Amino acid sequence: MNKEKIGFIGLGNMGHPMAKNLEKAGFPLSVYNRSPEKAADFKSLSTVYSSVKELVENSDVIFTMLTNDQAVKEVYEEIIPLNIQGKLFVDMSTVSQEATIETAQAVKIKEASFIDAPVAGSTQPAAESTLIIMVGGETKDLQRAEPYLQKLGKKVKHLGENGKGIAAKLSINYFISMIYQGLAETVLLSEKLGIERKDMLEIINESATGSGATKVKTPLLIADQYEPAFALELMLKDILLAHTAGADYPLSKVLIETYQSAKDEGFGKEDVIGIINYLKNKA
Ligand code: NAP
Repeated sequence: MNKEKIGFIGLGNMGHPMAKNLEKAGFPLSVYNRSPEKAADFKSLSTVYSSVKELVENSDVIFTMLTNDQAVKEVYEEIIPLNIQGKLFVDMSTVSQEATIETAQAVKIKEASFIDAPVAGSTQPAAESTLIIMVGGETKDLQRAEPYLQKLGKKVKHLGENGKGIAAKLSINYFISMIYQGLAETVLLSEKLGIERKDMLEIINESATGSGATKVKTPLLIADQYEPAFALELMLKDILLAHTAGADYPLSKVLIETYQSAKDEGFGKEDVIGIINYLKNKA
């Protein structure tokens, strides 16, 4: 069978382990990252390109995993003028529905295909191939992407046309932002009442309130160290995207205020659960 050539653009906290899983699965892989050092450990088994153009010209199916609307816009502005007929683009970044739909249209005008396929799950699920992948786009394009998506996640859910994958992603991240703020406030309350952090986290994780989200942040909270798996500023981006998309509910105002102030006070580059130290200073 003719093997398609896979390209991956954006080797950040998520993109790096995801691309590594495609490499491990044995697909012919090329990668590109704006800061070249993040691509260094792909040199032995894959092709590392130093431009978006070269990567796209030499790939059939191209994955993008980029920070935000601006990053996606900049990268696709380099892609659209190229001869991309017949290629499939899979954007796994968390961006606005508008950006997704605009990108999809621009790609499709050039007789190429596009699906939005953002993910639920952080760096550990990315490394373990247990992400939940929410897809918007045409069935035929998803079918083409499916063999690769199967190596990245444990579930691939098709939700409808372009923009629907992002719609589901913004919704679930709205919930996750509540879980993190709720977890941080609960731990702080218990400490105020004389309960040790590790004991409270054990209770939370073994109770009905425990979840993948609480469990994955437990080691960071116990160590009180917030090396970013998911940067707080990205969580703020997602709450703002959800709010703009229609999450005009009472909690959204509190969440925006908290995460925005935490970013303003210098917590933006830390892991999202570092919100606890921002909240601690407020109490
Ligand atoms: P990250 O570590 O900050 O990586 C962002 C990537 O985008 C890097 O490769 C960066 O390149 C690249 N980039 C940014 N602007 C660019 C530009 N103008 N041109 C070219 N490349 C550009 O972020 P991440 O945590 O991997 O997240 C990536 C996306 O997944 C975000 O939309 C995020 O919301 C979403 N997400 C994250 C998580 C998580 O837990 N981290 C979970 C689910 C979804 P450089 O290395 O050169 O900066």
